[in-house]
Amino acid sequence: MCLQLHYNMVAPRASILLVYTGGTIGMLENPETGALEPLDFNYLQDNVPELRLLGCDISSVEFQPPLDSSAITTEHWVQLARVIEENYDKYDGFVILHGTDTMAYTASALSFVFEGLAKPIVFTGSQLPVGKLRTDGKENLITAIEIAAARDEAGRPRVPEVSLFFENYLMRGNRTSKISADQFSAFESYNYPHLAYAGIEIRYHDAVIANAHVGRTLSVRPYFDPHVAVLKLFPGITREVVEAVLSVPSLRGVVMETFGSGNAPMMPWFLDALRAAVARGVVIVNVTQCVTGYVDMTRYETGVLLEKIGLVSGRDATTEAALTKLMYLLGQGFSSEEVSRLMAIPLRGEMSLDQEMEGFSREISIYRR
Ligand code: ASP
Repeated sequence: MCLQLHYNMVAPRASILLVYTGGTIGMLENPETGALEPLDFNYLQDNVPELRLLGCDISSVEFQPPLDSSAITTEHWVQLARVIEENYDKYDGFVILHGTDTMAYTASALSFVFEGLAKPIVFTGSQLPVGKLRTDGKENLITAIEIAAARDEAGRPRVPEVSLFFENYLMRGNRTSKISADQFSAFESYNYPHLAYAGIEIRYHDAVIANAHVGRTLSVRPYFDPHVAVLKLFPGITREVVEAVLSVPSLRGVVMETFGSGNAPMMPWFLDALRAAVARGVVIVNVTQCVTGYVDMTRYETGVLLEKIGLVSGRDATTEAALTKLMYLLGQGFSSEEVSRLMAIPLRGEMSLDQEMEGFSREISIYRR
């Protein structure tokens, strides 16, 4: 795999690096065969002439070959992080074009990699290729670039964090999930307010956007340990399945998707399997299968027991954020105790503190539409 750089385009103002990793957005319909083929980024402006009107200096870099995002691995996250790191001082903002299928995972993973971020990294993609008549890709691309280039009156970036723009809404990247396979409105951030709404004009919700880490040096640590698993509970789950997952020899971390506010069955074999894994140093994080709300391991007896066994509460984090955070922390070489400690506290706004949660549910209704 190699990267191709194309420098050019438009008059200077903000300078933006567009990174095309693959996905539907960069496809073009071959008029003869009707098949979707990757767009040559040299011709991006021909397909999206509106880019010239943005008044930004846009360069692009593309993954070769472009990837369907279902093929994304931790190595691609490292590659993407390195592209941004190497170009960090040269550009004012970054727009990452990514397939929608795993975009929430990549946006979450990248949010952990960059500590002390002071520039926007905006993920976007589309449900229809940019070359299709009814595409949502042009709108998503143009607005994502506008957001990455946006400055406040003091000249500071408006959204200096890893975010995801899709169909009118800007969301914190590590709070998103893909929620629809066929609607244009394909992403949602259920437990954290939208960062901005793009209607006739772009309205930024400054109170919920991360502060820029101005003056702090950027530290980039793109190391991930893939020896993790997601264990989704369901009524009637068998002992063989639970024990098979938890006894994988190389396993270092598990995100366990539980019921409601963090509940799980109380069969002795189930609790024993969890105990044995924790004793082997496997970090087990409890997240809820519900799309809104949070894990509270003090609410029911089952939660209290899980906490006693040593499970960590993922609070209101998405599975995507909990899993990539676990991979990131394990990848840093920390001990299981240290990983458990850090999993329980927000590192990049990926989960809320108790006192925030009530406020957020109010803000979510204000900032939703
Ligand atoms: N399968 C595509 C991908 O995730 C879908 C998309 O881009 O929307 O790469």
